[in-house]
Formats: sequence, structure tokens, C-alpha cells
Amino acid sequence: MALSKTDRHNATAQEIDRRLALAGLRWTKGRRAVVEALQVTPAPLSVTDLQTAVGPAVPLSSLYRIIADLLEAKVLIKLEFAEGFARFELDEDLASHHHHLVCTQCGDVADLELADLEVTLVTAVKSIKRRTGFRASNHRLDFFGLCAKCA
Ligand SMILES: [Zn+2]
Ligand SMILES: [Zn+2]
Repeated sequence: MALSKTDRHNATAQEIDRRLALAGLRWTKGRRAVVEALQVTPAPLSVTDLQTAVGPAVPLSSLYRIIADLLEAKVLIKLEFAEGFARFELDEDLASHHHHLVCTQCGDVADLELADLEVTLVTAVKSIKRRTGFRASNHRLDFFGLCAKCA
């Protein structure tokens, strides 16, 4: 069954509520601002990016705390691209399955959905299981190179 965009948004909001409650956390203005910034940006964000997105209403010390709490509640995941700092995005169950394009020159990181490739990846998962006995439940695939601006 295909969900409408609004249904999907509501389902996501409910699931975030559930995860916060499980972690013993309530929605606060700051937590909401961080989640919303990640929902509207098609790329994983660094602390600096998030600080810019949420503005001065959330001081840096609170921002670090909010990120730690949301990681703990499994609302956010942490990504590392050998940049010397971490980036954060919503847990994949709360967003959509995607990959990343990482520019090794300017450091730009963009989300990328690859519907046409996922079929091939399902085949790869079957082959991995056959050859190694490993049952992959998910995969991560990021591309490194030059973005259109840097190329
Ligand atoms: Zn670039
Ligand atoms: Zn994929």
C-alpha cells in the first residue's frame, strides 16, 4: 500500500514520539528544531551546519546535549566521512533509504536515492549469504569523488 506524503509524515512523527518516550525524553523546542532541520535538508549535517540551521535560540552546549539525547533515543544516527568531524541524519526508518555523494575537494555531502540500484543490491545480499553465510539486513554505500562544482 502506498502511503501519501502526509500519512508518511504522520507515521514518522509517531515513530519519533515512540522512540523519545522509550528513551524517557519529551519533545522540547530544541529537539524539535534539530529534527526539523534534518527533515528538510537533503544531506547529513555537521554540528556547525545544525547550529546555523537552528539559530541562536539553541546555544551550542544545548545543541551537543540534544544531539547526544537524540542519538541515544535512536532518532539520529552518526556518520563519519574521514573529514575529522561527524555528521548526523535521521535514522533510516524515519527518513528513506539512501546513499551519499561525498566531494573530497569541498567536503559537500549530498543524499542520493538509487531505486534502480537497490534491485542489484538485493541480488548482492543473496550472493553474500550464499558465499559467506552472512545475513545482511541493510547496507551502506557512499560515493567519493568531485561534485559538479569542483569537477
Ligand atoms: Zn565539491
Ligand atoms: Zn541502498
